[in-house]
Amino acid sequence: MKKAICWFRKNLRIDDNPSLYNAISENEEVICIYIKNYSIYNPYGIDLGNMGSFRKKFLDESVLDLKNNLKEIGIHLYIFDGDLIEVFKEIKSKYLSNKIYASKEVGWYEEKEEEVLKENNFDLNLYDDQFLIERNNLPYKTDELPLIFTHFRKKIEKFVKIREEVGKIIYKKKIDKYDFNFQSDINFKDLEFHKDSNFPFKGGESNGNERLEFYLWKNKGIETYKETRNGLIGTEYSSKLSSYLSLGCLSPVSIYHEIKKYEKEIKKNSSTYWLIFEILWREFFRYVYLKGKNNIFIKNGINGNIFNKNFKNDIELFNKWKNGKTGQDFIDANMIELNETGFMSNRGRQNVASYLVNNLDVNWTWGASFFEKNLIDYDVSSNWCNWMYISGVGNNVKNWVFNPVRQSDMYDKRGNFRQIWLKKKIGQQNIEF
Ligand SMILES: Cc1cc2nc3c(=O)[nH]c(=O)nc-3n(C[C@H](O)[C@H](O)[C@H](O)COP(=O)(O)OP(=O)(O)OC[C@H]3O[C@@H](n4cnc5c(N)ncnc54)[C@H](O)[C@@H]3O)c2cc1C
Repeated sequence: MKKAICWFRKNLRIDDNPSLYNAISENEEVICIYIKNYSIYNPYGIDLGNMGSFRKKFLDESVLDLKNNLKEIGIHLYIFDGDLIEVFKEIKSKYLSNKIYASKEVGWYEEKEEEVLKENNFDLNLYDDQFLIERNNLPYKTDELPLIFTHFRKKIEKFVKIREEVGKIIYKKKIDKYDFNFQSDINFKDLEFHKDSNFPFKGGESNGNERLEFYLWKNKGIETYKETRNGLIGTEYSSKLSSYLSLGCLSPVSIYHEIKKYEKEIKKNSSTYWLIFEILWREFFRYVYLKGKNNIFIKNGINGNIFNKNFKNDIELFNKWKNGKTGQDFIDANMIELNETGFMSNRGRQNVASYLVNNLDVNWTWGASFFEKNLIDYDVSSNWCNWMYISGVGNNVKNWVFNPVRQSDMYDKRGNFRQIWLKKKIGQQNIEF
């Protein structure tokens, strides 16, 4: 009998999941597994311990939602806690299969996992579950990827047809429950949302679909995305899809087709285009990783320190920054938001990253490590490549320096955002009435 293991990694969904779909289409029997891991394996930044509580909660919710959704189609999700190879060896000895279907992930640790499984003679079949454009559909070889995003985007828009979603999963075989030693469960610890959180959303495919439906079809936020996307307050200034994308609760291909459907049936304008434009940034950075590999994690990045920045390992300044105690209101308010909710707007991220690098002269990889620990939507390539970009060692020809006073005048004119997080009246110097 053809048997296989479907290993869920950062593709925690059942819809448009090529590795799950292929595992089930090509085998008579499949078991689905997930291996818990809350550690952060970053060999280059600063060691800040395990994943933060908001990120962990969203991950746990996403795994539990996947377990429920699989159950509804008659599949049990085995959750494991243990060393990757030991877990797979035990499965192989009891289930008698070494054929694994999984999502191709980007990242130092993620690729190590893939290597070690191959070295131990597991038959690893990887699919581009997390890519909008599959590697074999890219109009050039990965090592020919242009440095500049616009060049990438134009070629994609001209030459690439996004694949259709894979079909629905139909699984009829009833599987006897196996008893594995490394089997575990999710010890879910709920956390209350902060009353002012801009991201009061729960993890999982079901909640991701609900968010997508609301942002597009119910609230039509997509029609004004381009004007609102630099906002700082509330759930609706941007799509809030990043966390669902980073854990694969939603597929980028499904989101793309949903936006296209919206454009066809309701409205197409510069905002609907811009949402796809931003999703292409995510895609671009995945390929930047595949080309640059571990250089995306090092101080001089993929492009060298061409602006001669002074990346000091100054723990005192770093601690002030991470705790929201620099004395610069706009920076501190954003960092407090991140610490108290696990989320920060794109405008905030650009500013705090620039401040760490250009005003405090601190090593940017430390800032990236802090984001890695705490952001609910942490994504290897989006995080490290954006940090490289702001730090001037990535996909840039321009040195991005944000002036936080000017930025807060533009984006927090009346000080409302700063007031929420600093819990104090904001002085007049930044405010333009
Ligand atoms: C220093 C820094 C670190 C970042 N770290 C991460 C990270 O770890 N994970 C992450 O998903 N995004 C990261 N971003 C990108 C961006 O800030 C977030 O994707 C966005 O704020 C998430 O909110 P949203 O889903 O409402 O975005 P929207 O504005 O609604 O955008 C829609 C989608 O487009 C993608 N996107 C938008 N902007 C970017 C961008 N600059 N780079 C890559 N993809 C983008 C995301 O998938 C996002 O969900 C970072 C940006 C900076 C400047």
